[in-house]
This record gives sequence, C-alpha cells and structure tokens, in this order.
Amino acid sequence: MIKKSKRIENLPPYLFARIDQLKEEAIKRGIDIISLGIGDPDQPTPMPVVQKLCEEALNPANHRYSSYEGMLEFRKAVADWYKYRFNVDLDPKKEVLTLIGSKEGLVHIIWGLVDKEDIVLCPDPGYPVYKIATLLAEGIPYPIPLKKENKFLPKWEDIPSDIAKKSKVMFLNYPSNPTGAVIDKHGLEEAVSFARENDIVILYDNAYSEITFDGFVAPSILEIKGAKDIALEFGSLSKTFNMTGWRIGYAVGNSDLISILSTVKTNVDSGVFQAIQYAGIEALYNLRDFPKESSKIYQNRRDMVLDAFKDLGVEILPPKGTFYVWVPVPEGFTSTDFAAFLLEEIGVLVVPGIGYGDYGEGYIRISTTVEENKLKEALRRIKEFFGKGDWKSKKPSLLLK
Ligand code: PLP
Repeated sequence: MIKKSKRIENLPPYLFARIDQLKEEAIKRGIDIISLGIGDPDQPTPMPVVQKLCEEALNPANHRYSSYEGMLEFRKAVADWYKYRFNVDLDPKKEVLTLIGSKEGLVHIIWGLVDKEDIVLCPDPGYPVYKIATLLAEGIPYPIPLKKENKFLPKWEDIPSDIAKKSKVMFLNYPSNPTGAVIDKHGLEEAVSFARENDIVILYDNAYSEITFDGFVAPSILEIKGAKDIALEFGSLSKTFNMTGWRIGYAVGNSDLISILSTVKTNVDSGVFQAIQYAGIEALYNLRDFPKESSKIYQNRRDMVLDAFKDLGVEILPPKGTFYVWVPVPEGFTSTDFAAFLLEEIGVLVVPGIGYGDYGEGYIRISTTVEENKLKEALRRIKEFFGKGDWKSKKPSLLLK
C-alpha cells in the first residue's frame, strides 16, 4: 500500500481538476455543457509567434538544454517590455528570470523563502495556488480579506498586527483572479509601506496586467518607490498573448529574490525550450498592441454578462480587468450548490467562489474565454431559467465537494 506524504494528504483537491471531473460526469449524463469555468483564452496565439516557433524548432542549436535562468535575449526582451510598458528599468542579468509559466515561479519561490510554520499572507478570495504552494512548504497561509465593500482591495488594518509582524511573505494579485478588481498606484504604495513596516516580501502576481477595460492601465508594483527592495513581480505570456499551453513567463524585481528563485529552479528544472523563448521575444517586441485588441474582445463579453445579470436584477461590480466576472449567488444557496445547480439544470459550468477561499463564499466566477455565440447561449439559458419563479424550490443533486 503506497502512503502519501502528509503534505500531499492535507492538500485540498485542486479545484480545476475537480471541475474537469464534474464536467465529465455531467457529459456522461447527457448534459450539453457550456464551460465558463477555467480561464484559458479561446483565441489562438498570434500567427507570427507560431511561425517563429516553427522556424526555431527546426534549428538543432535549440534542441539542447537551454540555460537555467533563461536566454539573455529573452530576459532583455522582458526588460525592454518593462521599460516600454511601465517605465521601469531592469537589469536583464540580475533582475529578470525566465519561468515555465508564472505558476511554476509562484510555487518555487515559496520553497526558497518559507520554512515550516512561517506565515504567508494570501488574498482571499485568490488564485488557489498561493495557498497550496504555502501548504506544500509547510507554511501557514493567512487570509488577506478582499471584501465587496472595499472594492475587493485589501484593508491592511484587517491583518492583526501580531500576524503582520510574524508574516514573512505576502502574495498580491491585481488585476485580480477571481474578482476582476484592479488596484491603482496609490493602493500599491499602501501595500509596499505595509510590507516594509512589517518586513514582508511581496510576491506581486501581474499575470493579467494587459487585460484591462474602460481605459484602465494596470501598474507594475516596481513603479512604486522602494518596491524593488522587497518585491518580486510575476508576469506571463499566457493571457497577454494567448499562450497558456506554451508555458512561458517571467519573474522580475529584487535581485536577491531572483537569485533565491533561481537557486530553487536550478535544482528542479532545466529551463524553457529555446524555440519557445524566441517565440516569446517575437511577441514582446512585435505584438505589443495585441493585448489591447484582446481586451476589447473581453470587454465586450464582460458587458454581455453584466447586461444579462442586470436584466435579472443582479447587481455586479463591473470588473476593470481579467476575463472573469464575480457574480453574487442568490440568497439561500452556497456557491457550491449554486454552481452544481447551474451545471445540472442548464449545463452551464462556473466555478464556486468558495474554491478561492472562505471570503469567496456567496459568489461564483464566470470566465468569458468562450466564443460569443456560446457565451450568448449560456446567458440565454441563465436568463430563461432564472426568469421563471419556480427554480428556488429545486435542489442540486450533483455533489461539487
Ligand atoms: N496567476 C494568476 C492569478 C492566474 O490566474 C494564473 C492562471 O490562471 C496564473 C498566475 C498562472 O499562469 P501561467 O502559469 O500560465 O503563467
């Protein structure tokens, strides 16, 4: 009998893996599913990026191990992007590291910073990986509550001062998965001063920096004075250039933090396929306006969702970024029951808010990474079903635990 480590045994099930399972179960039962679950762009990677990959894949020089920290050309391309986009200066040799997608870096940096029982502040609701990375390193995740009355932004006085003093690391993520909220420079200044006062490292997840709406331009935390002393920012080509399957991202910022992450990575992976890094360089220099076009698509879809719920009398804080809409569930339902209910009654798959932390209860997350006609059909089903009065007496039977 194989025995798992306690570390693995104590992990909550990875939410999206469970959702995939449920989807399969529902399909087997003959339900016609529209998935508004996982956030994975439906649009293709831009063709020049694909072409670059194909060219570089043919070159045998790229078939060998690449360097651990990433090709200098790729790290330079990231530094140039930061100068162009945020007016932030970065030394590509010491302040930029190539990642196999930002998720990889977000997990591995914790191994380099967190010892048993160290406290890590995690946004709640937040991307589940922050908490799981902490648990894998035997640290203690402590929630940063993100509440609607604060526009889903942190109120630093919510963190008890003894906890703040003992915390070693904090994750912060704007534009936010799952709420779609954004933060301005003033909010980031407050975060930096809270972290500096309490000697906390900030891991700033800016994976959605380029997907923003209504004219909002997302800042980098490295624009804030003093941030580079304590912060590492994570970015990704996944959402910016529709490259989720390619696995390429970067960490930028404090050189000691870069060096710590690099030490972990040197011992667990052997770099990103060079052809992918060349394709990434192509994207970072030559497709700089591409995410603006994607944002227009997502803004239009966001508006479709907002309009549909408005017609049902549901008030939603319009997200200013990401491709998620954070929708309150009707009274009398848990987020889990409601998500299960949508799946089995009308075949619409969404993610229950509780999967993003205790403060996520009372919400579901809708992802708009589906083509418009499917989104339209999902919204039509939602409106038709909830437009009728008798749905409240029904109870879901699918278990979404
Ligand atoms: N950060 C956030 C907030 C995310 O939602 C995701 C993916 O959904 C990631 C990071 C990871 O992205 P990737 O590993 O593809 O760069």
